[in-house]
Amino acid sequence: MNKHGLPRDIPDPIKRTIRQQSKFGCVICRAGIFDYEHFDPDYSDATTHDPDAICCLCTACHAKVTRGHFSKAYVRKKYNEVKAANVAEVPPPFDSLDFHEGKAELKVGGISYDPGVTAVVKYHGKEIFSVSPSDGADTPSINAIFLDDNGKETLKISNNVWQGAVEAWDTEVVGSRIKVRKRKGVFALILRLEPPGRIVIEKLDMRIADAHILVSEQSYALGRYYDDHKINWFHANIVHMGAPLPGASAIEFLTYFEAEWRDQKWIGRGQRLATADNNIVTQTGLGVANKRMGIIVGANCLKFGVGSFASGGPLPIEKMRQVVFNRPDRVAEYIGRGAL
Ligand SMILES: [Zn+2]
Repeated sequence: MNKHGLPRDIPDPIKRTIRQQSKFGCVICRAGIFDYEHFDPDYSDATTHDPDAICCLCTACHAKVTRGHFSKAYVRKKYNEVKAANVAEVPPPFDSLDFHEGKAELKVGGISYDPGVTAVVKYHGKEIFSVSPSDGADTPSINAIFLDDNGKETLKISNNVWQGAVEAWDTEVVGSRIKVRKRKGVFALILRLEPPGRIVIEKLDMRIADAHILVSEQSYALGRYYDDHKINWFHANIVHMGAPLPGASAIEFLTYFEAEWRDQKWIGRGQRLATADNNIVTQTGLGVANKRMGIIVGANCLKFGVGSFASGGPLPIEKMRQVVFNRPDRVAEYIGRGAL
């Protein structure tokens, strides 16, 4: 507490207002990692946690204030500018990730894939999440675009620099986690950074056009909309994915025709297993394909092991979310039976 009896800790709802008003970055340099700074008056003289007198300031800019290089008036001016600005006028919050050690890894839904599989999620030919391991001279990198459940961009990683969305409801960096909330208590994304080189998706609830991706640390479910509210779901428990060929991917959304063509292409090159209706097929090189849904898990890998898979629907997204996030061990059971 200070001399006026004001506790050091700012209550969470006030912190959120300050983040929103600072548009989720340092109000001077836009760094995405910051502290809450009482600038008028200083904390030692403050009697309240007034969100208009506290802003987000990174440690570097804060140091310039305490050493007298930046005036308090300048901090106030910058805060007021960021607060009043239209979202399009404010640069997004950003920060660099540490990949210095020659490896890069993106963990998605407990899928284990070979470091040579560089396309982690592909949607109709476009790489949505990709990992480029170092080839000696270059720094390894991760590129990813994360969307929310309405398809709106929440965060992206471009060559190891993450960038938040200015218009987000809330983006918060807590310890090693970056959390994006859609509204109170509802997460669009939680990333855990394990530097150097590893990012774990703890939670992702993402719509990309007619596809939906739900990911927890242990499991995942892939959906396809066949109208705006009805979604069919697919899950494959991949135990091993290695020896990737060019074009290999962990998760791929594609057309029925492309999936059918790939199935035909690989016939005769190894063992092929298919469901009675010939819709779900697994074979070396192909991966596990759900042809009607246009989804392949583990595409173009010569070494490949699938433990189980499940396909079903339509199943309501609210329930699917609960299962993926709270009962990840029962995703396949829920998709397969339509109930738990
Ligand atoms: Zn700064």
